[in-house]
Amino acid sequence: MMSYAQLDNSIGSSRTGVLKLLLRSLLVLSALLIAPVARGIAQPVPVQSDVTLFQNVRIFDGKSSTLSSPSNVLVRGNTIERISAGPISAEAGTRVIDGGGRTLMPGLIDVHWHAMLIRSTPADLFGDVGYTNLLASDEAKDTLMRGFTTVRDVGGPVFGLKRAIDEGVVVGPRIYPSGAMITVTSGHGDFRQLSDLPRQIGGPPSRGEQIGGFAIADSPDEVRVRVREQLMQGASQIKLTAGGGVSSPFSPIDVVTFTPAELHAAVEAAQNWGTYVTVHAFTSEAIQQAIAAGVKCIEHGFLMDDATAKLMAQKGIWLSLQPLPEEMRTGLPEGSVQREKAEEVWPGIARAYEFARKYRIKTAFGTDVLFSRPLAQRQGAILASLARWYTPAEALIMATSTNAELLALSGKRSPYHGKLGVVETGALADLLLVDGDPLQDVNLVADPVKNFVVIMKDGKIYKNALTR
Ligand SMILES: [Zn+2]
Repeated sequence: MMSYAQLDNSIGSSRTGVLKLLLRSLLVLSALLIAPVARGIAQPVPVQSDVTLFQNVRIFDGKSSTLSSPSNVLVRGNTIERISAGPISAEAGTRVIDGGGRTLMPGLIDVHWHAMLIRSTPADLFGDVGYTNLLASDEAKDTLMRGFTTVRDVGGPVFGLKRAIDEGVVVGPRIYPSGAMITVTSGHGDFRQLSDLPRQIGGPPSRGEQIGGFAIADSPDEVRVRVREQLMQGASQIKLTAGGGVSSPFSPIDVVTFTPAELHAAVEAAQNWGTYVTVHAFTSEAIQQAIAAGVKCIEHGFLMDDATAKLMAQKGIWLSLQPLPEEMRTGLPEGSVQREKAEEVWPGIARAYEFARKYRIKTAFGTDVLFSRPLAQRQGAILASLARWYTPAEALIMATSTNAELLALSGKRSPYHGKLGVVETGALADLLLVDGDPLQDVNLVADPVKNFVVIMKDGKIYKNALTR
């Protein structure tokens, strides 16, 4: 296609000045007509006042186990500018929200989420990429409407969705993307079929790898390439699978997958880029090998023993733990390999939480919902189920400021600049106005439709039930 300048020149050389002038004015006119329409399409979020004042709210700040006295909170742009027990005067144009004594708290964070793997079936995932992305976009909106304003995505082709959310094209949470889950051949994350074997060394990648769902690496060099490919696309951390998993077709639970040299190659590449590696690992052996290689965070850890729990605490390694609901286990077909593996893993969930408490391991909260919209709708209920081991305040501190501490391990590779998971001056304005006191009743977060009356992300309001 011709550029504007080329078009201009070609007209100038062959036609009169009148025609040139006419064409120019047509182009200007069409630009004027198209511009507002294009803006309307690109921004489903309505144009909003830049300044919001929450009046008469009691604050759960993400760290303290008690609510503040009645306070006022001023948000300017995407930042909390001022918090005061005294009145804050509203300048002209300020949107004022009368909290009526309700609780203002930080947006929730889920650090084990797979934004691309919830609505789609495994078969969809390897099919039409456009369809998968549209499903994920709709799910992202629901995620935000459940009060989860940030997720750490630990595997899946999520870069496009993240970009569209950040650009305001679609509605969803902030995403800390890992990109493709990196696995060895046959490991957790290798979702190929036996008919795909043998892999031709140097041959074209499998479908799941082409779309960025997972990446297979069987040597330190291959690991480096795959890690760096994720970093190039904007990964804020790297996810490897260091041992067997439940949902994968060919990895037994007890196996260790990557070699120490391979794990070390991943850690080195991530560290050079200013970020860290997190690994999927259940067993003590897989966890210990990962820690020895410099891995900073363990996903699950359900089958660890006492000595490994102690080691994690001593070394300050993060445990990203999930109170997986029973339906996840019972949903697997009886007699299937996956169900058999789940039976082995499930008793470990409670044990891991007990270890986490006993040794004060740095523990983060996530859900790990896969391929189930109904389960995703229970994201808040899964958080509330932490009540088995924690007080409401402990559970909510974990899902806000503690989770944000884990996100901060991404350092300069964090896609968002500013503090998350807290209500304090200068922090990013991701806020929920809750009808009731969640520090007394953690189950309020299980019913976000009813109990979250205002949802704000990045200073923008996505829900306000008080105006109706
Ligand atoms: Zn997962």
